[in-house]
This record gives sequence, structure tokens and C-alpha cells, in this order.
Amino acid sequence: MPAMLDPQLKRSLAERVRFYHELGIYDFYRRPINPELQPEQREDMPRSQAAVAVPIQEEDLFAGPKPESRIADPAKSLRIIREDLGDCTRCRLHKQGRKQIVFGVGDPKADLMFIGEAPGADEDERGEPFVGRAGQLLNNMIKAMGLRREDVYIANIIKCRPPGNRTPERDECETCSPFLMRQIATIRPKAIVALGAVAAKTLLAINAPMSEFRGHWYDFRGTRLAVTYHPAFLLRDPRQKKEAWKDLQMVMRELGMAVPAKGVE
Ligand code: URA
Repeated sequence: MPAMLDPQLKRSLAERVRFYHELGIYDFYRRPINPELQPEQREDMPRSQAAVAVPIQEEDLFAGPKPESRIADPAKSLRIIREDLGDCTRCRLHKQGRKQIVFGVGDPKADLMFIGEAPGADEDERGEPFVGRAGQLLNNMIKAMGLRREDVYIANIIKCRPPGNRTPERDECETCSPFLMRQIATIRPKAIVALGAVAAKTLLAINAPMSEFRGHWYDFRGTRLAVTYHPAFLLRDPRQKKEAWKDLQMVMRELGMAVPAKGVE
């Protein structure tokens, strides 16, 4: 994808790619650019090669309904999804030192869902997302919004700790994300906040820097999705907390919440 692509165009292309994903189409091919064409002629070429970062797997169109789909109680549905996940060995992470699966935590009927990247050492130890230092900061962010941790739902793109906290690999995200999709479909939050670039790129299938992701609402399978900085990044660069607070204020306004003046500590 050209480095100079206009952010709005990039978002529109990503919407189109998601639309194709929903039709079950995943493979896109870049049409070779004819070097003899003038730049203005190249602009006329179809740009189907939209930015696919780490696209999450859409559910198999031909698979039957999920076991939880007829269940009205979201808490029960989440238990079914957890049982379905089992002692997962679907990707290499089960044999790369993970202690336990970190499924997700919070209100099964939450209006607001936070999605991070992957469990770290503390989360792997405790079996709960965002319980380490980054988790303490996420708790402060949630509190600054006038909410409690129990009022929201917190999960990650992948459910097992990658060795050395490395960035999740594409195939790990693809293998794990159907379970996250089922969690989202069960909880049906009014808004999702993607924490950091990995979560944003994976959920939105857009390869963009945080500066482009932030400050916009995205449509994620019918749910509003916003992007803010990962708390671990904010620990490294606390000056960006006021920027994260702007993102959270945008979320509060969307949810019709009173917006406190005081930000994230
Ligand atoms: N970072 C994440 O992305 N997720 C966690 O659960 C903890 C740290």
C-alpha cells in the first residue's frame, strides 16, 4: 500500500475489505503496476489492494450456528465459549511456556469492552487480563471514566502469553480471534476500545500508525470501535495520558456518560 495514502481513503478501503471478509473472501492480489503508465493514470487503477494488517478470521459462513447462539444469558454463553476453547492447543503458544489461558473478565452485559494485545507474565500467572502494571493503569483509566473494572469487559486479541511478551504472530491471531469474536457477539457492547496498535490493526485490518487510528469511530461488525494508546505505552510515556483521556472522553460522549473534567492519573 502506498505510504502516502490518504487516511480517509485508507479507512474506506478497510471497510471494503471487511465487507469482503463478511462475504467469505480473504485473498486479495495486488495488480502489478504498469511502469509505462503515468502517475495520474495509475490513480485510476482499482485499488483492491487495501491495507490488510492482521485480519481476524470471520466465522465460517458454512459452519452451523455457534453452540451459544440460542442462549439468552450472556454469562452462560461465555461459559460455553470458554468450555469450547478448552485447554487450547490450536496454536504453538500452548507449548511455548504459557501457564494458562487468559479468557477475559468483567460484566457479560457490559456496554464497554476493552481489547488489548496478549497476556503478559502477570496475566499468565493469574489467568486474568490486565492485572500487572499496565492493568493498574487501565483500572485508573476506567475509574477516571466513572466506571469500575467490574462494569466493563476486558479481553485480548490472543489468550495465551507469547514467549518473552513478543508481538503475537499473524497465525496466532487468526487462530485465536474467532473466540474473541464470539465473546464480542455474546456481550454485544455498545462500544469497543482497542488498546494499542496491535489490537487496532488486528480488529480493523488496517495497517496504520496510532496517530491515524485515534480520534475516529470505526464500525466493527455493527459495533462502534475507538482506538487509544495501550496502557503499557502510557507507562513508558506518561505525557500521552492526556491524549488517551481525549480518546476516553470521545467514548464517554458516545455512551451518553457524563464526562468528568479530571483525566487519567
Ligand atoms: N497487555 C495486554 O495487552 N494485555 C494484558 O492482558 C496485559 C498486558
